[in-house]
Amino acid sequence: MTDGDHAPGRPAAPDDLGRTAARAIASLESYLERGRAARGPIVRLAPRSQLLEGLDFGRWIQRGGMTDAELGHFLDRYLDAGTLLQHPGFMAHQVSVPHPASAVADLVNGMTNNGMAIYEMGPAAVAAETAVVRWMLARVGWQAGDGTLTHGGSLANLTALLAARARVAPDAWNDGVPQDLVVLAPPSCHYSVGRSVAILGLGARAHVPLPVDARGVVIPSQLPDTLRRVRDSGRRVVAVVANACATTTGLYDPIEDIAAFCRDQDLWLHVDGAHGASALVSPRLRSRLAGIEHADSLVWDAHKMLRTSVLCAAVLVREPSALQRAFQQDPTYFRPTGDAEFPNLYDRTVECTKNGLGLKLFLVLAASGEAALAHHVEMLYARCERFHAIVAARPRFECPYTPQSNILCFRYAGSDVLQEEIRQRLLAEGDFYLSSSQIGSRRFLRVVLMNEATDEAAWLRLLDRIEALASPARTD
Ligand SMILES: *Cc1c(COP(=O)(O)O)cnc(C)c1O
Repeated sequence: MTDGDHAPGRPAAPDDLGRTAARAIASLESYLERGRAARGPIVRLAPRSQLLEGLDFGRWIQRGGMTDAELGHFLDRYLDAGTLLQHPGFMAHQVSVPHPASAVADLVNGMTNNGMAIYEMGPAAVAAETAVVRWMLARVGWQAGDGTLTHGGSLANLTALLAARARVAPDAWNDGVPQDLVVLAPPSCHYSVGRSVAILGLGARAHVPLPVDARGVVIPSQLPDTLRRVRDSGRRVVAVVANACATTTGLYDPIEDIAAFCRDQDLWLHVDGAHGASALVSPRLRSRLAGIEHADSLVWDAHKMLRTSVLCAAVLVREPSALQRAFQQDPTYFRPTGDAEFPNLYDRTVECTKNGLGLKLFLVLAASGEAALAHHVEMLYARCERFHAIVAARPRFECPYTPQSNILCFRYAGSDVLQEEIRQRLLAEGDFYLSSSQIGSRRFLRVVLMNEATDEAAWLRLLDRIEALASPARTD
């Protein structure tokens, strides 16, 4: 990593990369092996101050000069202090166990820095983005639509709602935001939706909750009533938001019915499919999003179920000009946009410089193929159904719903506090990492099955362990 040639600002020699990367790969290989062999802990959760000291960040920042051998030593300890997603007991969050092809794309992006705000900064990266966005649009049924990749679903939601605002209030960009705008979204929507409403200048109170059932799923038959109340109070709707699927429960809102209502009332329908839009890849599962072709915008994270590394999210729109209308600004230092063969992507994203996100998804598709990705999503969904059957059959366990994706909430008999205690104890033991969530007023344990290695044997061990931890007769 350090030698005379590697002066600041001087390009690395080709063999610098090879040597340094080889050392990093050696560390990563033992990390992956630890995951494969299920050698925990999944995460140690040392306090930050301990990590700051233990990993010597301050000393390295001050001194520099890390050699390849020291890099390897540092990375071994860094990886040891991180969270091991490859461990079969990791069931906590919606990030993929990344495909190696995506990590290779990260390395290529990292070494090339083809930022591609404008076409000439990265023509190949723009082409890769175009190819995967077109592939995603075709899965939705929007061949004539448009889309862009963004750094995450949260930014994608903001972008989609900005496009929706531009349709209802096209002058808001220049004149400021009218006070009568609202967004109708289920209370179960991801927090980034509410945050977007506030960032867009509507005021957080402009998030009007859609009527939902006890599981947090939108009840379409009550939409007319909600809309009437909003309109009677003199307010205008920017967008109706539906979950596909909801972050907490993994349940899909009935898009077909919501879309019919929105078309009838001329309302923008935004579908937040950050997690669950990947079902569109599977002919068997795409009915979860039946009616999606009638929506106006869709957010779809590839880094959740399409096996890319973080981040790789798409915001897709049915109407081709909707994204460009959202950003009404043309910086004079860029060449004017509008040339289809030399497109500048900055005119449809919050970002200026952007990572080569398209290459990540492209290389995963190229390596595994669309059918294998469909199979991956189907496998995760099928396993969750099976997991549900096993949990529901055990006495003292309760599942509040039948899963529709790879996310399931459940509870062990006892208080809300007990659920969190169980979670914390599992985490401290290091063999299982679950999340927990609130549905209505009650707390649940939550699993997200992202890992092919999380098989039936792993769940049985998990449930046995929960029973042992929760049992009042436990001896420890
Ligand atoms: C994960 C998620 C998001 C946020 O996506 P990030 O890529 O983490 O920013 C938004 N909406 C839903 C429904 C999600 O599940």
